[in-house]
Amino acid sequence: MASSELPLLEVANLTKVFSTGGVFRKGVLKAVDDVNFNLSAEEPKIACLAGESGSGKTTIARIVLDLIKPTFGEIKYKGKDIHKMNRGEYGTYRREVQAVFQDPFGAYNPFYRVSHILKVPIKKFNLASSQGDSTKKIDEAFRMVGLTSEEVLEKYPHELSGGQRQRVMLARIFLMRPTIIVADEPVSMIDTSLRAEILNIILDFKKRYGVSLLYITHDLAVANYLCEEIMILYLGEIVEKGRTDVVIKTPRHPYTQLLISAIPIPNPKSRWTEETKLDAADTEYITSYGLAKYPGCKFYDRCPHAMDICKGTSPQVIDVGSGHQVACHLYSEKEK
Ligand code: SF4
Repeated sequence: MASSELPLLEVANLTKVFSTGGVFRKGVLKAVDDVNFNLSAEEPKIACLAGESGSGKTTIARIVLDLIKPTFGEIKYKGKDIHKMNRGEYGTYRREVQAVFQDPFGAYNPFYRVSHILKVPIKKFNLASSQGDSTKKIDEAFRMVGLTSEEVLEKYPHELSGGQRQRVMLARIFLMRPTIIVADEPVSMIDTSLRAEILNIILDFKKRYGVSLLYITHDLAVANYLCEEIMILYLGEIVEKGRTDVVIKTPRHPYTQLLISAIPIPNPKSRWTEETKLDAADTEYITSYGLAKYPGCKFYDRCPHAMDICKGTSPQVIDVGSGHQVACHLYSEKEK
């Protein structure tokens, strides 16, 4: 296969199992369960991993960023398994796949000024040919995120607002000219009035510079505003995926239907602040199976449409039209 036909990012059969429990209750938690998706190299895209706390979305982001190792499965960047790259390839992956996290304060060393935060990657990745070039690139990066060097360059992180800190983080990322940004709830700790501005900077990265994004959120309103594709996670599995507008308008999986019925959609300035009610047992799925309460569908005991087959047999992923995929026996039964 020619390299241009390879996905930019390929997540294949990704599974992460954590050991849990103490002396009396030991078990395993399958935080990510056979997750598969691609980001195309042909066209930049914003793909969203959406789910509630405990759905595995942050674990997937951390594995993609090589912050933790998977138990099974592969992360391929430009066709190469990131755990089998040589030093040069791995260096390129580390520069081209960048992260922006939820807490814009926690990301910084409080003892360094903003200038240091930006100069380190310039030096590390050899991004400027001279001091003048470095200054020019920093100015340009600040312009891209709506800041100026005069405003922030000599300040310490604690002297910046939450919105400014997240913009500085985005400027730092912009300097590295990434191909992919993994953004884990980047606006959830930012004041509502500034949230749309940060999201628009992220959209600009894609439109003007062809950057693809893997956007992690529990907020379907943000997903609907930003993302072309959405993947709904439930207890570590992708239960539904497809074009965001299609999934939001015509959710097929009973869990997605529950999520969508619980929120008003599409104003990006509003938030899905209420977590949909999961009973305590839902997040505590450490059982004799080690994975879920039943060997079949993980949503079985909450599903209003549950059938006998659902309890013992995991549903396969079915395409219900134009790439809209659902893992639910309601659709596999119809196929028969
Ligand atoms: Fe409900 Fe069965 Fe579909 Fe699971 S597979 S979501 S239990 S209908």
